[in-house]
Amino acid sequence: MTMSNAPFRPVIGLMSYRKVAAQATPIPLFALMPSYSEAVEAAGGAPLMIPLGLDEETLDVVLDRIDGLLLTGGGDMTPSTYRSNRDDLVDDTDPDRDRVEIYLARRAMAIGKPTLAICRGHQVLNVALGGTLYEDVRQMLPGAMKHDYFGEHPRNYRPHDVTIVPDGRLAQLLPGTERLEVNSLHHQGIRDLAPALDVTAVASDGLIEGVAAREHPFAVGVQWHPENLIHDDPRMLALFRALVSEAVAQRDATLI
Ligand code: MN
Repeated sequence: MTMSNAPFRPVIGLMSYRKVAAQATPIPLFALMPSYSEAVEAAGGAPLMIPLGLDEETLDVVLDRIDGLLLTGGGDMTPSTYRSNRDDLVDDTDPDRDRVEIYLARRAMAIGKPTLAICRGHQVLNVALGGTLYEDVRQMLPGAMKHDYFGEHPRNYRPHDVTIVPDGRLAQLLPGTERLEVNSLHHQGIRDLAPALDVTAVASDGLIEGVAAREHPFAVGVQWHPENLIHDDPRMLALFRALVSEAVAQRDATLI
């Protein structure tokens, strides 16, 4: 075997979502916004898109082959995944996506696979570990501000900031950062925090906007979309670099 001098590039699996191409005969597709794969590549990782609809045996093989997992944004989680029946408050649900992502999140937690969870992914991580969600933040969180800036602004529009919890995982990743201006493209949010997670960032209305798993090498969730902000604030790319760095560190550990 020839040893290459090129630095190891970890493969980061990116979750896709379902979309239908509008044609005379509609065609079902798996989709992904390019900002995710571009951010992973810019951070030194090699992105690989993961389809939905896979059974657990296949998902185990996929999870074994990737060096890190990125739980992406998307539609609402089905309320029954967190013991709620308020289906009247959600839209754009996909029970199969819930199943696949909850399974992968739990397995990634169990085996220590580096995981970055964005927006819906941040919510999936919480639900997979036993937490619950507000089906609609504005209706259910007393004093909630507007978080659902869908469509009316570009995706890098930053309407609110978050306070970074001192000495938390996010504070470690972004040294010297106390507040961060963020975009906000969600109407669900974390309600009860899963026992295995710590809060790493909070919005001024009290909503949890950042989490990290306590007993895990790297499982970090953010409610905002850093992949849309890497050109506006270099600290956003640092989140992807941290995911890639942990994936490289785990690979290096297996080579010793
Ligand atoms: Mn927000």
